[in-house]
Amino acid sequence: MSTPTLPVTRALRPAFARLRFLRSVWRRWFLWVLLAMLVLALLVTVVWLAGRHEVEQTQTALDRDTADAVSDLRSGLQRNSQTLRASLAAGADIELWETNAAALLREHREWLRLEWLDPSMRLVAAVDTPYRRHIFDDFRRAESQADVALACVTARKLGAPAFSPSHYVPIAQGSGLEVMEMCLPVEGGGYLVASYSLRDTLTELVAPMLSRGQEVAFTEIDGTRLAAIGAQRRVGTRVFTAQQLIDLPGAPVMLRVDGWRGVPDLFPNVLTALVTAISIALVSVLVLLARDTRRRLRAEHDLADALAFRKAMEDSVITGLRARDLQGRITYVNPAFCEMVGFTAEELMNSDREAPYWPTELAHEYQRRQAVRMAGAVPPREGFESVFMRKDGTRFPVLIFEAPLINAQGSQTGWMSAFIDISEQRRIEELSRASQERLQASARLATVGEMASLLSHELTQPLAAIASYATGSLNLLHAEGQPRGHDLDDVTMAVRRIAEQADRAGQVIRSVHDFVRRRDRTREAVAPQALIDAVLPLVRLQARKLDVQVELLFDDRLPPVYCDRTLVEQVLLNLARNGMQAMDLPELTERVLRIQVVRAGGFGRAVEPGSGADARRWLEFSVADVGPGISDEVAARLFTPFFTTRSDGMGLGLSLCRTVVEQHGGVMIFEPQAPCGTVFRFTLPVK
Ligand code: ADP
Repeated sequence: MSTPTLPVTRALRPAFARLRFLRSVWRRWFLWVLLAMLVLALLVTVVWLAGRHEVEQTQTALDRDTADAVSDLRSGLQRNSQTLRASLAAGADIELWETNAAALLREHREWLRLEWLDPSMRLVAAVDTPYRRHIFDDFRRAESQADVALACVTARKLGAPAFSPSHYVPIAQGSGLEVMEMCLPVEGGGYLVASYSLRDTLTELVAPMLSRGQEVAFTEIDGTRLAAIGAQRRVGTRVFTAQQLIDLPGAPVMLRVDGWRGVPDLFPNVLTALVTAISIALVSVLVLLARDTRRRLRAEHDLADALAFRKAMEDSVITGLRARDLQGRITYVNPAFCEMVGFTAEELMNSDREAPYWPTELAHEYQRRQAVRMAGAVPPREGFESVFMRKDGTRFPVLIFEAPLINAQGSQTGWMSAFIDISEQRRIEELSRASQERLQASARLATVGEMASLLSHELTQPLAAIASYATGSLNLLHAEGQPRGHDLDDVTMAVRRIAEQADRAGQVIRSVHDFVRRRDRTREAVAPQALIDAVLPLVRLQARKLDVQVELLFDDRLPPVYCDRTLVEQVLLNLARNGMQAMDLPELTERVLRIQVVRAGGFGRAVEPGSGADARRWLEFSVADVGPGISDEVAARLFTPFFTTRSDGMGLGLSLCRTVVEQHGGVMIFEPQAPCGTVFRFTLPVK
């Protein structure tokens, strides 16, 4: 069942990964959005609450002002009625009352007129306010008589001052006044009536305690405005209203106070402004935080990318990587290293000071090396070789490069090492060395093959001599009669010659045998003369055949060279043979081969002068001939393997010679010789 669904699952994998990514992004942002919303809600609430608090405070202050105004008004009216009653205290004298009334009217601007009525409501006396003229003529007064009568009936009933409902009294230029009558019953019958101007009442009794920006008005119960004073409402202001009933006996009216404050009321006071400022700061911080988080997210993302890239790189390299802290504990290994040593990363990291891949027999030395490293010794830049052990116990060579591990603060936290398994490289080197050796051996055999004819020629002489001596001896021994004394002497001499010739033949054979025999590949200190002596019999063999004169030039006191003598002998023999073959031309009359050894003055040495290696001393060997020299065309390919100009040549001689010399650290060159010929030179180190 599961098999067919597998491709579908694989196809959906990117979609799932994207979904997971989105979910993680949403989870992260969700908290931010929630926080932002909560902060916003909090801010709006705080601003709103602060605003409301402000409104309530203003309203409360206005209510308080209104209540105070009403109570002031009440007490003012009461005081007025007492003052009015006092105007009749001196007795019912009309003139006196009029004088008193005039004085009272001067003091009380809210009164327009004072009247004294007898018990049957007829006018006894009346005085008008000195501040206004012609408000009440007789006709107008008659119109308001009904209101006065009503107030007086109530006053009589209550036995206290009573008021009439307000009424409008027109005055000049189309304007008028809202007037209210107060009737006060006096002892012994009759009434005192005071006409209140509502507007002036407000001005005199209420205005002093009004604050600016307020309007105070008398209104009917139903809200109809009767009289008002105070500032006009300005445009763009918000109105606060408070009203209270002034329960005047006979005429209930309302006192309404309007107060206004400027809009917008968003920052009505310092508290709200402060809260708002803090809110703005909070929102700004939130925005900055969100931006910072976004940056952080991006950085995290980049870092994750970089980490993934680094991980992929570490996992893909075949170089083993290992990090150690300053105590020598392994803190990191890459998969290539685990694969190299066969241990898991956990096994490696949980090991103590002694790493599990250290071969037991070398652990002690490695521990010392580690201690030196931890003490701060700088490892060689070109790396160093070591031997590690796999989990199965097999040893293998590694090349190690170490560098200090520096953290972001610039201080060293440990060591980073890179390892290259060089077992394969070693195997190839060994193979090439073996094949090189085989090649050398074949070349040697080939040389011997070439020399076979020389050998046979060389051996014929001693063999012929032996044969003739043997025949001569036999003849003497089988001569008629007893051998004579001088015959015996001759035979003895002939046998000695036979022995000498046999020895000579034996020497020739031995020198070839010595040359061909494969000796141990060890380097040793060899005197230059010993090297030349070893090849000289073979050189001379050919020299004799080609009629070449061999010259040897060297000092007896030359120091020994440090070399593999078999290989160097072959180099010398090759060069000598090449030289002699070059001179094998019929037109050449004088054929000289000069083999020379001197202390090296140095030529084109590969090593840099002054370096450690150059401090060694060298000997220079040279083999010079007087042949036709080497053309540029041949010179360009001289050391190329299998390059030869001879029909029977192998073309291996010179290339092998140079390899051998370079293996010893030396250099091989060739130069034309004046007036003709070529000289081959090579250097070898003195021990
Ligand atoms: P081979 O001797 O088998 O030909 P070598 O590598 O020894 O191989 O020599 C390569 C070629 O270099 C020779 O064939 C010859 O042409 C040239 N050569 C070597 N030594 C000399 C020399 N002393 N003078 C002139 N030519 C030389």
